[in-house]
Amino acid sequence: MTSTDPSPTPLPLLGATEIRRLAEEIGVRPTKTLGQNFVIDGNTIRRIVAAANVDPGETVLEVGPGLGSLTLGLLDAAARVVAVEIDPVLAAKLPSTVAAFRPELAGNLDVVLSDAMRVTELPAEPTALVANLPYNVAVPVVLHLLEHFPSLKHGLVMVQDEVADRMVAGPGSKTYGVPSVKGAWYSQMRKAGVIGMNVFWPAPKISSGLVGFVRHEPPVTRASREQVFAVIDAAFAQRRKTLRAALAGWAGGAAEAEKYLREAGVDPSARGEVIDVAAYARIAEAKLPFTA
Ligand code: SAM
Repeated sequence: MTSTDPSPTPLPLLGATEIRRLAEEIGVRPTKTLGQNFVIDGNTIRRIVAAANVDPGETVLEVGPGLGSLTLGLLDAAARVVAVEIDPVLAAKLPSTVAAFRPELAGNLDVVLSDAMRVTELPAEPTALVANLPYNVAVPVVLHLLEHFPSLKHGLVMVQDEVADRMVAGPGSKTYGVPSVKGAWYSQMRKAGVIGMNVFWPAPKISSGLVGFVRHEPPVTRASREQVFAVIDAAFAQRRKTLRAALAGWAGGAAEAEKYLREAGVDPSARGEVIDVAAYARIAEAKLPFTA
């Protein structure tokens, strides 16, 4: 093709017919347990890839490549794709699907058969995470990957729309919760769109949301990430209570909780849903013994 071609041929992406044929070939029946809803619409793939802002030199980590819809789009935009899939039948099939549809890109793919919530080693250092995530484990997968792969600088994930709203929520919002605060420890998250149900096979019963993120430094604190996350978990385990009451168990009593909250500059009668991740870090730090 030359640059003067008036209408370039659309890239070969997988549509409903190809997806069903591939699934049939390997005897795959999508399961709910593994959140298997495959994208059957090339425009949705183009939209996800465009929103992901992947540079051509990047290595992308894709979680749950499934039958390869998004993988083909990502291979086109990036230098390398590392795809982590838990289903052995899907993982085994992926290289041949890519070889059939885009043989020139097949060498740029690594498939890792693993649970993305446990993976700690990859064959290449990814700088971006782009995935249509299995919905039941979307948040733990994102948090695990941000923790274990500091090379990940940005990303775009598709999750249930209501989970997307929780991930991007700020303090004071109704949807602000554990995913929002823990997500904010690692990154700035933003909502990047809503996707309808009919672009999937099988179609889920709810809409999906796109969440983009850019990694930032966590708050500066002497407390470890685990210590800060313990305060967050305690605060939201009883989100209707004041922080003084909700953190009593964590602090060793309501009086101690009040003392740590005051030291951290947080009103003890406030609720956990109104304070940001930096405040959680200060509360965790207030409990630590003073070291000169
Ligand atoms: N990327 C494909 C697409 O867009 O058509 C499939 C997305 S589907 C929503 C989720 C995929 O994640 C499935 O292929 C499923 O087998 C895989 N999966 C589920 N749990 C997983 C886990 N813990 N680790 C890695 N992959 C997982």
